[in-house]
Amino acid sequence: MNAETPDPHPPAPAGDPAARRDAAVRAAVEQRLLTEEEPVAALLDVDTVREAVTALDGAFRAVTAPGTPVLHTFAVKAASLVPVLALLAAEGLGCEVASPGELALARAAGVDPERIVLDSPAKTPAELRRALALGVALNADNPEELARIDALTGADGPRSPVGLRLNPQTGAGSIDAMSTATATSKFGVALRDEGARAWVLRAYAERPWLTSVHVHTGSQGMPLDQLADGVAVAWELAEEVNATAGRRQVRTVNLGGGLPVNFGSDRTDPTFADYARLLRDRVPGLFDGRYRLVTEFGRSLLAKAGTTVARVEYAKSAGGRRIAVTHAGAQVAVRTVFAPTSWPLRVAAYDAEGRPRRGPHVTQDVAGPCCFAGDLVATGRDLPELRSGDVVGLLDTGAYYASTPFGYNALPRPGVYGYRAGRDGVRFATVRAPQTAAELLAEYGGATPEALLDAAVRPAGR
Ligand SMILES: *Cc1c(COP(=O)(O)O)cnc(C)c1O
Repeated sequence: MNAETPDPHPPAPAGDPAARRDAAVRAAVEQRLLTEEEPVAALLDVDTVREAVTALDGAFRAVTAPGTPVLHTFAVKAASLVPVLALLAAEGLGCEVASPGELALARAAGVDPERIVLDSPAKTPAELRRALALGVALNADNPEELARIDALTGADGPRSPVGLRLNPQTGAGSIDAMSTATATSKFGVALRDEGARAWVLRAYAERPWLTSVHVHTGSQGMPLDQLADGVAVAWELAEEVNATAGRRQVRTVNLGGGLPVNFGSDRTDPTFADYARLLRDRVPGLFDGRYRLVTEFGRSLLAKAGTTVARVEYAKSAGGRRIAVTHAGAQVAVRTVFAPTSWPLRVAAYDAEGRPRRGPHVTQDVAGPCCFAGDLVATGRDLPELRSGDVVGLLDTGAYYASTPFGYNALPRPGVYGYRAGRDGVRFATVRAPQTAAELLAEYGGATPEALLDAAVRPAGR
């Protein structure tokens, strides 16, 4: 067994994200981002993020007529961290937001209102008023919401570009919970329902200021063809509105996000270029320069840039199964823990110094720190045998993982660190400091310990 043989300190070739990742794990241990006190942390490769933005930008440039305006927004829910949004904004992206909180994060990152799109399915009147006052683009989800916008809008129409979210009802992908274009989805105007198309055409005819259409057919697990079907439906509707109006009323088509991520290897597959070419072949009229395009990718921009690292606290066995009890569980990988077949993650094994563990593989469960039996991030996985003090890396967790924590067992939010790994070593920047004990206490009502002892809510006679 050669598992103990230390690797030479690995130089990090700039072009190899996997080598950069290994260097970052090693450096996170050396630079004490991962310690007994802070046994879990999230790492984000800034170069991988920028490469993804460049790929997205290039993919759409390659298929659009010169001069076509394209606004790529980032779906904030995929990584709701202000410094990440600011990095993406510096790379030219706007933000897609789906709650007042996400709008506040985008604004805090310095994103201009003209580069923000609001899509929440349950916008309150206050949320609509604020978006309209800022001039943030918004997509109405349903007839009632459109009526609310009417009521908030003067004779000149709203300052914000406004569109309708369409549900093309093109069907589910492989993950039901992520499929937004089913017949009965809660999102958008169900376009194939009886009378719906006529209602939509009337809605546009009555409102000259309704100038966009929006679709987002799903998020992970959607075949590209099905994503393209949804976009085609939106484009056809835009053409129909414009033909009826006899002018270019709809100027913006928002294609949503949803490009799936390959969680099985380091390969980026499919690529933004694959998807853009498919869209151009399928809906050529969308790319001829008559429409402004908006996209809303989330997972595909960030997933591959992230690694969640955690210490192995104990290595044990039960019923003949090896189990590594680590500090990464449902609190940082909620979907993987609760829906493991839909959200499998690769786990990388490192020794206590953060060097890749080699050596014979053993079938193991990789468990988290939460007090319920299902808190496992991998089950029956063949990995080099993990020992206490080792480090595990959950790969491809740059989107919807540590940035979307789950509050359980009063576990703190882990630190999130951006990194650049080069020949001169690995440099980290703190995106979000680990939650402190005081912050944790405040989150759980620590400021008001006597609230329920108050006479107003106390059972009589006590
Ligand atoms: C979640 C969401 C996105 C992003 O989806 P990804 O799968 O992360 O690309 C885009 N648009 C809307 C409306 C969404 O709800």
